[in-house]
Amino acid sequence: MIQLYIPLNFLGVLYREIKQSLTDLDKMFGLLEKPREVADAPEARDLRVQGGAVRFEDVHFAYDPARPVLKGVSFEIPAGKKLAVVGPSGSGKSTLARLLFRFYDVQGGRVLIDGQDIRAVSQHSLRAALGIVPQDSVLFNDTLAYNIGYAKEGAGEAEIEAAARAARLHEFVASTPLGYQTRVGERGLKLSGGEKQRVAIARTLLKDPPILIFDEATSALDSHNERAIQAQLDAVGRNKTVLVIAHRLSTIVDADEILVLEAGRVVERGRHADLLARGGAYARMWQIQANSHKDHGNQMA
Ligand code: ATP
Repeated sequence: MIQLYIPLNFLGVLYREIKQSLTDLDKMFGLLEKPREVADAPEARDLRVQGGAVRFEDVHFAYDPARPVLKGVSFEIPAGKKLAVVGPSGSGKSTLARLLFRFYDVQGGRVLIDGQDIRAVSQHSLRAALGIVPQDSVLFNDTLAYNIGYAKEGAGEAEIEAAARAARLHEFVASTPLGYQTRVGERGLKLSGGEKQRVAIARTLLKDPPILIFDEATSALDSHNERAIQAQLDAVGRNKTVLVIAHRLSTIVDADEILVLEAGRVVERGRHADLLARGGAYARMWQIQANSHKDHGNQMA
């Protein structure tokens, strides 16, 4: 019995390890419910990035054929510009990011980067061009150095520390027992939401991709932390093509274009001031958020 118990117990640990790493990926990509669907085209070439302009052309998509999620969405983010997408929960905002990463193929229309259909390019070159700062940053059960550095193969200590400094994470790291060698994650040091997001920012800085996706957290950080993170995101996104999936409108007043998505359709588009002046869906969302911030004693924007 004892002999059996030990290997089984070991298997239990191994199983948890595997499950944990799958959970991490699942959280990051929301994908594991389904097998991977996309494959490189036989003659796939590497994406040639010349600035990183993103274009969605009449994109249709459904996870389940009976429930269309995107019903003809079109937009363009010129190289170096910032587009924000807002809309109710379930309207399809995160799906846009998943399609840009090509976790799924569109069922109608096209997604282009610098004029190249993303279905025609190799997936590794596509993903090398994209960076995401997710809502809920995933930590691996490993050291802080690993957690920051894994975005860039072969990243050295000096580079990792420089990225952490730029993400304002270095002071925190220095305060942990083993610095960059401190283990974090489920079985290590627990990080706050703000610290986790700084890890994600440091990763992104290290990877330095031309196109960035910010998937804003639904759960608000405290307003001091939120302002600090926002300032860092702005710095990371400078001169890059940025798609923001926004929940708090106060963070996107400076976007070059804002799309309001409702049930998979763009119902309004424009800059913040124009949309407010129009007095439609966006203006109503703004009013609701302004009122709830007033109730909480906070100021928007
Ligand atoms: P939120 O603001 O709550 O994050 P969202 O606008 O980003 O919402 P999506 O995550 O894009 O919404 O989801 C759009 C719709 O697609 C929802 O109805 C959702 O239930 C459905 N959906 C999302 N992911 C999957 C999936 N993997 N399989 C099936 N349906 C999905």
